[in-house]
Amino acid sequence: METLKKSQSKGKKSEILKILLALSSCAFLAVVITYILYGYTQNLLKERLRERITSVASTAATVISANDIAQVYEPDDLVSDEAKNLAARLSSIRNANNDIRYIYLLRRTNNTEELAFVIDSESLDSKEIQEKRAGKELSDDDLAPLPGDILTISEYPALRDEAFYHPVAEKELQKDQWSTQMSAYAPIFDKTGNVIAVLGIDVEVQNYLSQIQTTLLPFLLFIFFLVVLLSLLSVLLIRFSGEKVKILEEIDRQKDELLGIVSHQLAKPITAIKWNLELLLDGDVGQIPKEGKEMMESMQKVTHHLAELVNMILDVSKIQLGKMNLEAQPLDLKEFFSEIIEVIEPGAKERKINFKKNLPTNLPTVLLDKRYMRMTVENLLSNAIKYTPVNGDVELKVEITQSKMYCHVRDSGCGIPLADQKKIFGKLYRATNVRNTVDGNGFGLYVAKGAIEGQGGRMWFESTEGKGTTFFFELPLKMPKV
Ligand code: ADP
Repeated sequence: METLKKSQSKGKKSEILKILLALSSCAFLAVVITYILYGYTQNLLKERLRERITSVASTAATVISANDIAQVYEPDDLVSDEAKNLAARLSSIRNANNDIRYIYLLRRTNNTEELAFVIDSESLDSKEIQEKRAGKELSDDDLAPLPGDILTISEYPALRDEAFYHPVAEKELQKDQWSTQMSAYAPIFDKTGNVIAVLGIDVEVQNYLSQIQTTLLPFLLFIFFLVVLLSLLSVLLIRFSGEKVKILEEIDRQKDELLGIVSHQLAKPITAIKWNLELLLDGDVGQIPKEGKEMMESMQKVTHHLAELVNMILDVSKIQLGKMNLEAQPLDLKEFFSEIIEVIEPGAKERKINFKKNLPTNLPTVLLDKRYMRMTVENLLSNAIKYTPVNGDVELKVEITQSKMYCHVRDSGCGIPLADQKKIFGKLYRATNVRNTVDGNGFGLYVAKGAIEGQGGRMWFESTEGKGTTFFFELPLKMPKV
C-alpha cells in the first residue's frame, strides 16, 4: 500500500513537471514570437516615419530660394535681405509644424566630413532673444552658429553624400537629454540644376514613439496570450491524441487476443465434427441412406471451409500479437506445387480460365514452413481465379536461383483500383471494386504477406484496374543438410 502511494505521488510529480515544462516552453515561444513581431512592427513604423519626415523636408526645400542662399556666406551677410528672406521662410516652415525642432541650411566644403553652416530659423535673433529663449546666459560657443561656421557631420552619415542627391532621412534616431529626434534632408537646386545647399530638419519623434508603444502594447499582449494559448492547446491535443492512439492500440491488441482465444476454442469442436462426419461417411456406424450421405457430404464441405476460416483468424491474431510460429521444414517444391495445382485446377477449369504454369523442371527441396507456404500460394492463385472473368488468363511462374525463390501469380482480372492499392495488404481490407460483388473476407493477403515476411522475404504487387494484377514474392532459400 505504502509503495503504491509512493509510486502514485511520483507519477503525479512527473506529471506536474511535464506540465510545468510545457508551460514554460509555451511562454518562451510566446516571448520569442512577440519579440520578433515587436521588432518587425517597430522597424515598419520607423520606416513609415522616415518616409513622412523625408517628404516634409523635400516639400520645405521647394520654398527656399537658391538665389538667396548664394548671397549668404559669412556672418556679415546676415544683414542682407536674402538672409532675412531665408530666415523668415525657415521660421514659417517651423511654425507650421510643431514637431520640427530645428530647421537649417548647409552647404558643401572641400572636406567630405565637414559642411559649412548657411543659416537657420534663429540666426537673426539677437543674443538677448537667444538667452531669453534658453532661460540662461549664453557663452559665444552656445550661441546659434553663424554663416560659414564649419560643422563636423560624422554622426549624420546621410549628410556625407546622399542628402546632396535626393531627399533622405537618417536611419538612426538621435537622442539627447530632452528628446529623441529624427533628421531628414533635401537638396536645393539652382537654376542650372546644381545642388547649392541642403535643407535639414530635426524632428521631435518622442511623442510619436510613445504613442506607438502604447498602441502596440495591448496588441502585443494579446499576441503573447494567444501564442501561449495556442501552444498549450497543441500540447494538450498532442498528448490527448497520443493517449487515444494508445487506447486504440490496446483495444486492437485485446481484440486480437480474443480472436485468438475464440478461434483456438472453435478449432477443437470443428475437428471433432470433421472426424465424426468422416467416420459416418465411411460407414463405420452402419449404412447411411443416399440422401443422408449427400447431406453429410455438403456438411463436410462447409466444415472444411469453416476450419480454414478459423485457422486464418488464428493466423491473423498470431501475426498481430507477434506470435507467428514459422517452422522451417524440408519442403519438396516439386511435390508442393503439384499438390497446389491439383487443388486449384478444377476451379480454373470451371471458370474456363487459361491457367499457365511456368515452373522449372528441377525444383529442389528447401527449408520453409509448409503450412504457411501452401496457404500463401493457394491464396494468390485462388484470388487470381476468383477475380478474373470467365475465359481470362492466370499464370503461375516460379524461378529458383542459388539463394532465392521468386514467384509470381499474374491474372487478366478486374485489377485493384489505385485508391485501394496502399491498403490492400491491410487486415480485413477489400477493394471497393469487389467488396459487394465477390465473396471474400480480406484475411488472405494479410496472412500471406505476414508469412513471407516472417520467413525473411518480401511480397508486392502491380495492378491496373480493369486489366489485371500480378502478385510477387521473393524468399531467401536454405537447403536442408543432407
Ligand atoms: P479476399 O477474401 O477478399 O479475397 P484477400 O486478403 O485474399 O481477401 O484479398 C484482399 C483484397 O485484395 C481482395 O478483397 C481484393 O480486393 C484484392 N485482391 C486480391 N487479389 C486480387 C487479384 N488477383 N485481383 C484483384 N484484386 C485482388
